[in-house]
Amino acid sequence: MKLQSYDELKHSKYRLSLMLFLFLNVAVSLFCLLPFSGRAAPVYSPPVLLVTGFSVALLSGMIITRKQKLPLLNPVALILGALWAWHIDHRYHEVFYFDGSFLIISLLSVFFISAIALSDYLIAFCLHITPPVITVLLLDDGQHLMTILFTITLPLIGFSLHHLMRRRFDTFTRRLVRQLYEEKESFSDLSMLDPLTGLYNRRGLKNRLDTLLENHAGSHYVLLLDIDHFKAYNDNYGHAMGDQALARVSVAIRDAVRSRDVVTRYGGEEFLVLLTNVNASMAMKLAERIRQHVVDLKIPHRFNTQVSTHVTLSAGIAPIFEDDFDRAVANADRALYVAKNQGRNTILAWEALPKLTQPSGSLV
Ligand code: GH3
Ligand code: MG
Ligand code: MG
Repeated sequence: MKLQSYDELKHSKYRLSLMLFLFLNVAVSLFCLLPFSGRAAPVYSPPVLLVTGFSVALLSGMIITRKQKLPLLNPVALILGALWAWHIDHRYHEVFYFDGSFLIISLLSVFFISAIALSDYLIAFCLHITPPVITVLLLDDGQHLMTILFTITLPLIGFSLHHLMRRRFDTFTRRLVRQLYEEKESFSDLSMLDPLTGLYNRRGLKNRLDTLLENHAGSHYVLLLDIDHFKAYNDNYGHAMGDQALARVSVAIRDAVRSRDVVTRYGGEEFLVLLTNVNASMAMKLAERIRQHVVDLKIPHRFNTQVSTHVTLSAGIAPIFEDDFDRAVANADRALYVAKNQGRNTILAWEALPKLTQPSGSLV
């Protein structure tokens, strides 16, 4: 899960709240307009007609266009709140004489809409109720002050607390999602690295390869390296010392090439270096640098009772033709095989092999 999907979730909740808010405004305004029991004829109050028209227009716009960009909830809430305030003022003098509770009922209707649709949006909630509250307080002129204050204060306290809890919950969820995402990223990074050497493993190589082969200007070379007589090293010095030697050789290889080259532990004591954007002589030079760096480590290696020497490696080197990585690896492997046969501690370019083993193709 990404932070983006959490934001999408919030966006869709915002959209639904807005639609519910508009729908409730339509419903309440229709209730005011239509002749229901107790009312002889429909009441065509201009502000209520405006509430219906405005809400229906926005609602149908949202349904039809299904646009990502939504109307802003706060201004919409304020406009509708102002229209309800106008309606209360407009109707007050007509109904006051036969319905003393008109102001409280009107206020409750507005609160009802806000409470259902805007409970998670405190600012929009306040913007929607403020104009009607002010109007009711002014019209009432202090006659039912306590009742009105009670009607206003209780839900306000409730919604403020609810809002506070909501925000904390949101912050917590956002932090959790970010943490999960970061952990997922670091696990995915770790899964691309070899734990002993810290170099890329095959998965890491594949990952880099995809992007490297997608956009490159120059040619790439594959360098396949294999430590000489490493089985004998393990046999003589033990596996733990073998691991140490592997780690030191890895550092030497990494140090010998450029930062843009991709160094991979390809197998047990085999490494693959992807030399990026190089020509043949530069690739050869870098391979030779690696060989020399490893010799310079001077890791003692007595591989039989007669000969005492240091840890060395051999390498085969081949260019990547037409982005065919596997063929380049096979070619480099062939060169490595010949390098081993030539006495080890040797670098051999695939181009230097007898011509019949080379396929045709152009460098990429
Ligand atoms: P060659 O010069 O022909 O490459 O001979 P070699 O002995 O290096 O080749 P071989 O393939 O016979 O042996 C590879 C050895 O590398 C065998 C294995 O014990 C050792 N090896 C592979 N991975 C590890 C590792 O992670 N740690 C240690 N200590 N040794 C390893
Ligand atoms: Mg090997
Ligand atoms: Mg070996």
